[in-house]
Amino acid sequence: MNPGIFTEDYVSQPFWWDRTPRPSSGNQELPESTDVVIVGSGYTGLSAAVQTARNGLDTVVLDAQDAGWGCSSRNGGQVSTSIKPSFKELSEQYDKETALAILMEGNNALNWVERVVRENSIDCDFRRTGRFYGAHSRSALGMLRRKLADTPDELKLDAHLIGPEEQRLEIGSDFYHGGMVNPRHASIDPGRYHQGLYECARASGTEIITHCAVTRIRRQASGFVVHTEKGGITAREVILATSGYTGKLSPWQRARIIPIGSYIIATEPVPEELIDKLMPKNRVITDTLKLVVYYRTCPQKRRILFGGRVSIKETNPQVCAPRLRELMVQRFPELSGFRISHSWMGFVGYTFDQMPHIGTRNGIHYSMGYCGSGVSLSSYLGAKTGLKAAGRPEGKTALDDLKFPSRPYYWGNPWFLAPSIFYYRWKDRANTPDRRRDSYSSP
Ligand SMILES: Cc1cc2nc3c(=O)[nH]c(=O)nc-3n(C[C@H](O)[C@H](O)[C@H](O)COP(=O)(O)OP(=O)(O)OC[C@H]3O[C@@H](n4cnc5c(N)ncnc54)[C@H](O)[C@@H]3O)c2cc1C
Repeated sequence: MNPGIFTEDYVSQPFWWDRTPRPSSGNQELPESTDVVIVGSGYTGLSAAVQTARNGLDTVVLDAQDAGWGCSSRNGGQVSTSIKPSFKELSEQYDKETALAILMEGNNALNWVERVVRENSIDCDFRRTGRFYGAHSRSALGMLRRKLADTPDELKLDAHLIGPEEQRLEIGSDFYHGGMVNPRHASIDPGRYHQGLYECARASGTEIITHCAVTRIRRQASGFVVHTEKGGITAREVILATSGYTGKLSPWQRARIIPIGSYIIATEPVPEELIDKLMPKNRVITDTLKLVVYYRTCPQKRRILFGGRVSIKETNPQVCAPRLRELMVQRFPELSGFRISHSWMGFVGYTFDQMPHIGTRNGIHYSMGYCGSGVSLSSYLGAKTGLKAAGRPEGKTALDDLKFPSRPYYWGNPWFLAPSIFYYRWKDRANTPDRRRDSYSSP
């Protein structure tokens, strides 16, 4: 590893934590009983808590770590409509009306975040910056064209294609062959947003107890006993909000969630004129490669944040940082002189059908598996789950109780990840024009 690419004050922790350290918690005692216990204090858990508490239920959120320690304070802060399968793909599985209703929930989720931010005056730099989705090859641009043509008008939200000749209006790079612009997608400071939800949950009367891992959930005649490192608590309703950190506590969900490490770097400060040249519309950016990368500026437009999956196996974020930097410099050679000040990772909760899942199993509510696009979906579906636990009809969603698939011999350890990443690397190389290919030196 080249130490020269790291700043003297480099830290291996999320950039967002500089501005918003994890909320500190005193020595909190576990109450003996409550109406609702929520496991996990990320966006899902806190959004659920706000709804249960506002509906008059005593609510306790438990987290094994600090509040928001999981993906919710580690993500890239790109806020999109989030549901991965296309209308065409979903229409092959469901009737057209259901497919439309499912995808519409993605649009609702994006609008939901904006509403929560506005109504609760959360200071988190939510901006409708729009997203540029770069096509890594001519055929990828064709794929985007077909995808857009197959999308019903009510789902398009003004999305449009950009040809290679107009690309420089969107991004100061010739790396792509044009792409698609989603002008209504947004960016946010994920750490500030989490802090805002944390404060809303507390203001609604929710108790948030950290460093309190839940070890077992036992059903009894009326409700549940939730066993934790700090003792037991009885509850009428339990909500699982553990997504990519779902573990042995809930074997059924664990056999349906694929935890995949995603890694990010932040650069040292870059002059604003250069940032304006590289990202003239300050959009969030991603691309069509199988091993997708995502990048943006920080809200203050001082640094570039660049994320993706570059390692075959899970590793230390500092090990992945040079490789991520190479990919960033491939797109923006002007950044070759800038060092890395932060790098970090988190476990995204993927699912076998690339769909988020919300439901109830053995009386326990859950919402998880947002497949790397969970800022809006976890907030929206978390709130829906809270409403369900409170017995409110508004908790209904078009995503209710879709079949949550697993695979034979999968219990939560994604042994197939390394060969899949190998294959996707090969595929990306094979489908990328020569001058953009790289050596794929592996960390
Ligand atoms: C690096 C990275 C970049 C990402 N970028 C984006 C992006 O740009 N846009 C986007 O939309 N999405 C992105 N995501 C995904 C998004 O952040 C997540 O989908 C979302 O934050 C999930 O929220 P959550 O509340 O469900 O889970 P989390 O925030 O992960 O919270 C789960 C919590 O459960 C706790 N927990 C687990 N087991 C137990 C237990 N037994 N007892 C008590 N507590 C437990 C964990 O400690 C953790 O705090 C990214 C994710 C990562 C990792």
